[in-house]
Amino acid sequence: MQLRYETGLTGEAYVRAEAWRDARLERCPNHPHGGCSLARHGTYARKSPRGTKIARWYCPESHTTFSLLPECLAARLPGELDEVEQVVAHAEQAPSLAAAGDALRRDAVELAGAMRWVGRRVRLVHHVLKVVIGLLPEPLARCVAEMGAVRTRLQTETALRALRTRLAEQLPVLPAPLGFQPHRLGTTNRLRARQHKMGPDPPSALA
Ligand SMILES: [Zn+2]
Repeated sequence: MQLRYETGLTGEAYVRAEAWRDARLERCPNHPHGGCSLARHGTYARKSPRGTKIARWYCPESHTTFSLLPECLAARLPGELDEVEQVVAHAEQAPSLAAAGDALRRDAVELAGAMRWVGRRVRLVHHVLKVVIGLLPEPLARCVAEMGAVRTRLQTETALRALRTRLAEQLPVLPAPLGFQPHRLGTTNRLRARQHKMGPDPPSALA
């Protein structure tokens, strides 16, 4: 189970400070009144940002591992929320998914892979924005479920991070990469992901 770790740090600063060492979990979320043997359970590494570690706890009574994810990092996707946001905002403005993939993944070996990488981020973010707009009538009433529109309403270019703070209580039930739930976006839902604007969706979107 992932939990939000409030650090106020960017990914780079989190790694530099080795802030996972300062992570604390005072109470077991499954046993808020105590009585279980909750204990530190080491760390696990994330590839990006390079050197990232995530602090873990384990509750043997409920057989649950808890990971304290710093609020700057995307959930169930590599890298930072800000990076994901920039990709999606860029893709929304691009003439096609291919153009976005080409511009954003200069390192990609093939265009199809770059398109999958961008398309996956666009689908995941648009999916969670739809849910978020329903939860925040003020200031998001009738907002289009797109990164650009949400940025304008929130008046920030780090809107996903701002939403993480505003929706801290709901993160356990919100889909990734903003919240901590698996997104459950299947093949059917993929087809709804604004393909008229973004171009055809390649099969298999694991990135
Ligand atoms: Zn417990």
